[in-house]
Amino acid sequence: MDIHSYDVIVIGAGIVGATAAAQLSASRRVALVEAEAAAGYHSTGRSAAVWLANYGSPDAQILTRASREFLVSPPVGFSEVPLCGVRGSLVLARAGQEGALRDSMVGAVGVREITVAEARGMVPAIRDVVTAAAYEAGAADLDVAAIHQGFLRLHRGRGGVLALRSRAGRIVRVGGAWEVEVTGGAVFRAPIVVNAAGAWGDEVAVMAGVRALGLVAMRRTACIVDPAPWVVTDWPMINDMDEAWYCRPEMRTKLMVSPADETPIHAHDVQPDEYDVAVGIDAMQRALDIDVRRVERSWAGLRTFSPDRGLVVGFDRVADGFFWCVGQGGYGIQTSPAMGRLVAGLVEGKVDADLAGAVGLVDPGRFN
Ligand SMILES: Cc1cc2nc3c(=O)[nH]c(=O)nc-3n(C[C@H](O)[C@H](O)[C@H](O)COP(=O)(O)OP(=O)(O)OC[C@H]3O[C@@H](n4cnc5c(N)ncnc54)[C@H](O)[C@@H]3O)c2cc1C
Repeated sequence: MDIHSYDVIVIGAGIVGATAAAQLSASRRVALVEAEAAAGYHSTGRSAAVWLANYGSPDAQILTRASREFLVSPPVGFSEVPLCGVRGSLVLARAGQEGALRDSMVGAVGVREITVAEARGMVPAIRDVVTAAAYEAGAADLDVAAIHQGFLRLHRGRGGVLALRSRAGRIVRVGGAWEVEVTGGAVFRAPIVVNAAGAWGDEVAVMAGVRALGLVAMRRTACIVDPAPWVVTDWPMINDMDEAWYCRPEMRTKLMVSPADETPIHAHDVQPDEYDVAVGIDAMQRALDIDVRRVERSWAGLRTFSPDRGLVVGFDRVADGFFWCVGQGGYGIQTSPAMGRLVAGLVEGKVDADLAGAVGLVDPGRFN
C-alpha cells in the first residue's frame, strides 16, 4: 500500500480547506485532499462574492471583521490583483418594515439610515414602494478566485501538498493516527484530520466513525441579467429588508440577482431551478424599476449550516485528532482569512487575540 505520512490531512480544498491548509503548513507538513479535479468547484466557486460586516452569526461576524485587514492589504506576493473593492450596500424597506429596519441597525457596525432620496441618488431605479433605507459604506466586493488561489499558492509555497481527484473514501484511526484512503488507493496518514468538506462534512465524519453534527445544506440560486438602459457600474449591493432577494453589479454592466433562497437539499452538484430564478427577478422588480428581457446565466450552490447556524471549529470532544471546520453558511469567503488563523491557533494551542472571542462560540463540544 502507498502510504504518505504528514502531520495534518485537510479534507476538502474549497476556501475553508485552502485557508486552513495554508496557515497550518507554516509549521507542519500538510496534505490537502480534494475529491474534484478542480479546487473550488462547489460552494466556493458559486458565491455572491460579498463582504458584509454585520452578516451572519455573532461568531461569523467576529471572523468577518478580523478578515478585513487581510482582504484590504494582503501580504506581499499573496495575489497579483486586489482581493476586494469597496462597493457599499443598501437595505431597502417597504411600508410596515421601517421598524424592523431600525431594529436591525441596533449594534450594527458602520450602518446608517439614509433617506429614500439619498438611496435613489445611488440607485435611480428604486420604486416608490420603498419607504426607508440603510447604507453600509464599508461593504465590499470580493475576488473569490484570487483569495482562494492565494491560499492554495501559500500552502504549496510552504511545502504543502494538494491532491486533486482524491476523494476520501475510507478514514480509520490506526495506532494514534488517521489513515485516509483516497480515490486510486493512495493512503494519507497523520495524527490530525481537518474536516473541511463543506456540505459533505457529516459524511466525512461518519466515514471516520465520528458522530454527525446534523449539518443542513441549503441551495441558493443566483443569475446574471442585463439591466440596460440603467448603468449599474457604481451601484451598491442592494438587499431586501426581509432578505427576500438581493442584487449587485457584476462584470461592470450586468446585475447579479438572487432570490436569497434556502432550500434544504442533499449534498451534491446542485443546479439552479428556473422557478427560483423567476421568483428572485420578480421580487427585485417590485422594488426596482428594471426591465429584465433575458437571463444570461444562472447557477446554484450550497450554503451549509450547523443546527444553531453558528460555525463549528475545533477538535471533536470524543474522537482524538478529528478537527471540525464546517458550517460556513453564507459567510465562508468573507471569514476565510481569519478562519485559517483560527484553525492554526486552535491546533497549535495559541489563538490570536482578535479571535479569542470566537473560540467558545465555535466549539464543536456544544453539540455533544
Ligand atoms: C449563491 C451563494 C452565494 C454566497 N455568497 C457568499 C458571499 O457573498 N460571501 C461569503 O462569504 N460567502 C458566500 N457564500 C457562502 C460560501 O460560498 C461558502 O460558505 C464557502 O464557499 C464554503 O466553503 P467550503 O470550503 O466549506 O465549501 P466547498 O467550497 O464546497 O468545499 C468543500 C470541498 O470539499 C470537497 N469534499 C467533499 N467531500 C470530500 C471527500 N470525501 N474527500 C475529499 N474532498 C471532499 C468538495 O469536493 C469541495 O470541494 C455563498 C454561497 C452561495 C451558494
